[in-house]
Amino acid sequence: MTDQLPLSAPSFDEAEAQAVADVVRSGWLTMGPRTAQFEGEFATYVGSSAGVMASSCTAALHLAFAALDLGPGDEVIVPSLTFVATANAVAYTGATPVFADIVSPEVPLIDPEAVRALITPRTKAICPVHYAGYVADMVALRALCDRHGLALVEDAAHSPGARSPEGPAGSLGDISCFSFFSNKNLVTGEGGMCTSDDERLVARMRLLRAHGMTATSWDRERGHASGYDVVERGYNYRPSELEAALGLVQLGKLPGMLARRRALVGMYRRGLERVPEAGFIPFTAEGDALSSCHILPLVTPDPEAREDVRAAAAAAGVQTSVHYQPVHQFKVFQPQESLPITEDYARREVTLPLYPGMADSDVDRVLDLFPVRARAGVA
Ligand SMILES: *Cc1c(COP(=O)(O)O)cnc(C)c1O
Repeated sequence: MTDQLPLSAPSFDEAEAQAVADVVRSGWLTMGPRTAQFEGEFATYVGSSAGVMASSCTAALHLAFAALDLGPGDEVIVPSLTFVATANAVAYTGATPVFADIVSPEVPLIDPEAVRALITPRTKAICPVHYAGYVADMVALRALCDRHGLALVEDAAHSPGARSPEGPAGSLGDISCFSFFSNKNLVTGEGGMCTSDDERLVARMRLLRAHGMTATSWDRERGHASGYDVVERGYNYRPSELEAALGLVQLGKLPGMLARRRALVGMYRRGLERVPEAGFIPFTAEGDALSSCHILPLVTPDPEAREDVRAAAAAAGVQTSVHYQPVHQFKVFQPQESLPITEDYARREVTLPLYPGMADSDVDRVLDLFPVRARAGVA
């Protein structure tokens, strides 16, 4: 048995272990000073004026849509090429997710033209996903939002550190939502963050995060409040100090981790250019320089070739995945119109290992799979 090469792995060392131990020894494990510090530092890093940390990005997205007062009868336009949480978070409010197609297999981001065609009087918001860490066309989407009076929410789960010419992901929407799940670019285990420049929305999200209560236990602990009122039906989406402590250490490492991800993607691009029959990596080398390079998608020539790559990789101990099964095809969202570009992409895409701790030789090990032999040869 050869060693398994995972799809992703967090970059942790003694610094994270120490940070968590410090929280344990402090005796204060729930949302408190480290959370506030991480919120401030993360918001600054992504060019936003405030952060609201949450227990996950799914919770962050729900807080965003709830703060925007979405409810039954409202519609939010989302890509189908995303994790199901984007659409589920819309549905939690009673609103309906409306799925838009992507631009092309080379640019698998929500297509502003497709979005435009889906806008109705019920549309209240657009929620692009910066797939793989490449920022969606926020200029075109912002123009649509301005023209139709819609909110723009970034699902930035893939993209801490990603940029567009207009600025960093996290500064481009009315609210932006990040994930710190174990396979994301900045890892706290579970955890998420909303960023926004809108003080009213930030205050509303803070309130909804903690049951709609006017004071938190940390406020009471410090003697800043003795009682509280409940002014809205909120949620418990509080993060823990353990997660915030991990976040502070990981944020310090993020520029270095980002540089390594970009270097690895460059190696993959150069390697795969030598085997054009394998397919192509979406976006461009110029785009990589602005991307947070969250995952490494390969678009194979046809669905059979994708299955061959997955089988050859599994046989060689290399973990692969598919990003994503189209959300509009899941049972819970039926019935739906078809989205031909998304469906074609999802049948041909395979995600290859990418994480900062990968050695150059690990990339070679993946590249050695190509060209993958014909189906009969693999079996
Ligand atoms: C991971 C992810 C989420 C959900 O993040 P959690 O922190 O696991 O809730 C939402 N959207 C996208 C695009 C994701 O990749």
